[in-house]
Amino acid sequence: MNARPLLNRRLDGFGTTIFAEMSALAVKTGAINLGQGFPDTDGPEAVREAAVRALRDGRGNQYPPGPGVPELRTAIAEHQQRFYDLAFDPDTEVMVTAGATEAIAATMLALLEPGDEVIAFEPYYDSYAASIAMAGGKRVPLTLRAPDFRPDLDALRDAVTDRTRLLLLNSPHNPTGMLLSREELAAIAELAVERDLLVVTDEVYEHLIFDGEHVPLISLPGMRDRTVSISSSGKTFSFTGWKVGWVTASAPLVTAIRTAKQFLTYVSAGPFQYAIAEALCLPDSYFTGFREELRAKRDILTDGLTTAGFEVFRPQGTYFITTDIAGLGEKDGLAFCRSLPERCGVVAVPNAVFYDDKEAGRSQVRFAFCKQEHVLRDAVSRLQRM
Ligand code: PMP
Ligand code: GLN
Repeated sequence: MNARPLLNRRLDGFGTTIFAEMSALAVKTGAINLGQGFPDTDGPEAVREAAVRALRDGRGNQYPPGPGVPELRTAIAEHQQRFYDLAFDPDTEVMVTAGATEAIAATMLALLEPGDEVIAFEPYYDSYAASIAMAGGKRVPLTLRAPDFRPDLDALRDAVTDRTRLLLLNSPHNPTGMLLSREELAAIAELAVERDLLVVTDEVYEHLIFDGEHVPLISLPGMRDRTVSISSSGKTFSFTGWKVGWVTASAPLVTAIRTAKQFLTYVSAGPFQYAIAEALCLPDSYFTGFREELRAKRDILTDGLTTAGFEVFRPQGTYFITTDIAGLGEKDGLAFCRSLPERCGVVAVPNAVFYDDKEAGRSQVRFAFCKQEHVLRDAVSRLQRM
């Protein structure tokens, strides 16, 4: 057998995702899983029924069109109009993907030349580093620091070089819950225009905001033709397993990204696309109701973790809470998370894995609150007893 490692150098070190590791640990130990971010109840019954209907009616059971079924592309465009007053042509400026994950990967593969620099705030969602690496890009992390995790805009300006191709942003931000303000977004937009950068915005938590409002960067002056907006139905409608995501951007950007996307999956999830088209047309009350439900859960977990001795960084959005465990006399989040199921029957995720600067996140641990209220209360009482 050839002595060369099987896994290529670009993917060396990526191993198994922390979500897979921690969910497997939860299954093995029977612990309450507040690690991987998935709801423990499914989304609206009407949406589930729409998927069943599509399956039965034979809609989407064979290859749908590459960019996504027209019904869904239209619904995405209407959603952008309804919530943000943004107009997109469903035929040329909207593309459906296999979750936001594929959208991010296809975008990196389409837009980067080997050696191009990508600036992203760390801690970052784990697929960013892998997608940049697969495209041969070089990631340039800028560290968000507790307690507020606000971006250092001067450091961002200084980080831009002649090799910088794009900024990769996530707001509301996983895992910290930080929401970029209009002022911060305006400063980022100004920099992008000045240095002629593309910006990719991961907006999968756009409807999960408790303090403040979501402003799509693409709505700011000079950004319409240089921003790739990415979102997904997984979080908003609690169907993370369906993997229906999308890109909205100018036609040339969508065309470029589609060139990569068509050779990754070509298309995905036919019947689910029809169901998500219906989901996106739900009345405003669905979106506000879901948000308020999660707000109450955020508060239960925030209070419970505080009482249990964690330092809690209250999230403005997402369904995650980042904590610091130093107050519990603990230093290492990874070791803490690996022992937590044994110690008290709860699973969480160590934030260190989302950093290049491991020290910056060493004592941080993330908990997900997209779980039923009684599950959260049970987890909290286990953590308090520990
Ligand atoms: N971006 C962020 C910030 C996420 O937390 C996630 C996790 N779901 C994704 C992208 C991936 O979304 P999807 O499941 O739609 O691929
Ligand atoms: N986005 C989810 C999280 O942050 C995980 C998704 C995944 O497992 N890839 O927990």
